Amino acid sequence: MKAAVVRAFGEPLAIEERPDPEPGPGQIRIRLEASGLCHTDIHAAHGDWPVKPNPPFVPGHEGVGLVEALGEGVTHLAVGQRVAVPWLGRACGRCEHCLSGWETLCEQQVNTGYGCDGGYAEKMLAWADFAQLVPEGVTPFDAAPLTCAGVTTYKALKVADVRPAQLVAISGVGGLGHLAVQYAKIAGATVAAIDVTDDKLRLARELGADLVIDARKDDVEAVLKRHGGAHAAIALAVNEAAFTAVNSGLRRGGKLVMVALPAHGTIQVPIFDTVLNGTSVIGSIVGTRQDLAEVFQLHAAGRTKVVYETRPLAAVNDSIDEVLRGQVKARIVFDLGARS
Ligand code: NAD
Ligand code: ZN
Ligand code: ZN
Repeated sequence: MKAAVVRAFGEPLAIEERPDPEPGPGQIRIRLEASGLCHTDIHAAHGDWPVKPNPPFVPGHEGVGLVEALGEGVTHLAVGQRVAVPWLGRACGRCEHCLSGWETLCEQQVNTGYGCDGGYAEKMLAWADFAQLVPEGVTPFDAAPLTCAGVTTYKALKVADVRPAQLVAISGVGGLGHLAVQYAKIAGATVAAIDVTDDKLRLARELGADLVIDARKDDVEAVLKRHGGAHAAIALAVNEAAFTAVNSGLRRGGKLVMVALPAHGTIQVPIFDTVLNGTSVIGSIVGTRQDLAEVFQLHAAGRTKVVYETRPLAAVNDSIDEVLRGQVKARIVFDLGARS
């Protein structure tokens, strides 16, 4: 099988031929159909974060494909079923976080495409209990971006406890943001979408944003405040200044939900304003298996639209450049060739 491999941080990925991996107990092997390129994979390949993966590794945590082989003890899945493999590759199932519905905070978790090989390959392994069945009516190319971009933004809106008639700012309308706009509309909010390219602002409008803010020329704080300030701001742009701008644009009692992970990212949070205005700063990391099931259900019911462009895996390095230049419509999905 072919795989795109990070050999050293900051270097182009290498396309390598590898033997098919053998599923261990509790694992499955998947023939991949589609695999999304999340900006996190670029951070992984660049070694951007304090906790780093160990090269060589195969990135990718939006892999979708067909079960090809079952490891020992796997009884609830069958060969041929379509599954998706998210960032949460496995969690312990026993700690306080796992037991209280917060498996995404498990300290024993293994992350797909980071702590083990991921979906930039023709085949991959996954832990059967964390591979999500993809329902009928959701194509593999739609399922791929939903597996991280979808579940992450769906969860961020839950964390913000968004209610109808609230103003929600979505900062960054990329892979994550184009779905965040839709989940915020489904929650009944008025949506202000913020980006720095004309195409993304147009896309946000098409997907239902009520208000678009061009951070290249508009004063984000002033525009949000003119509308009363945001009840919640979901920070998805890989840019520290964008976090600060939406934090300043919150209304009293508003919540900043941090999701994007710029390298070495920090922002200044003014204590006086935060205290007097009663605002919150919250971090949000992906979503649980139940969140992903809900994301797939919504899509199967026709409530969301996934915007993607396909590329062959051989174009992985050019694809990363396209994302970094902001030229991608929303998400790039690698076509890995498997067909049902
Ligand atoms: P992306 O590159 O597809 O989207 C980023 C968007 O931000 C682009 O549309 C870009 O034009 C826009 N942008 C850039 N500068 C801006 C600015 N100053 N103001 C407003 N918009 C601006 O990336 P993505 O795949 O959507 O991922 C976004 C970030 O979220 C990454 O850092 C990624 O690692 C992180 N992420 C976090 C989680 C989590 O669970 N917390 C999950 C997935 C991804
Ligand atoms: Zn991701
Ligand atoms: Zn746990």
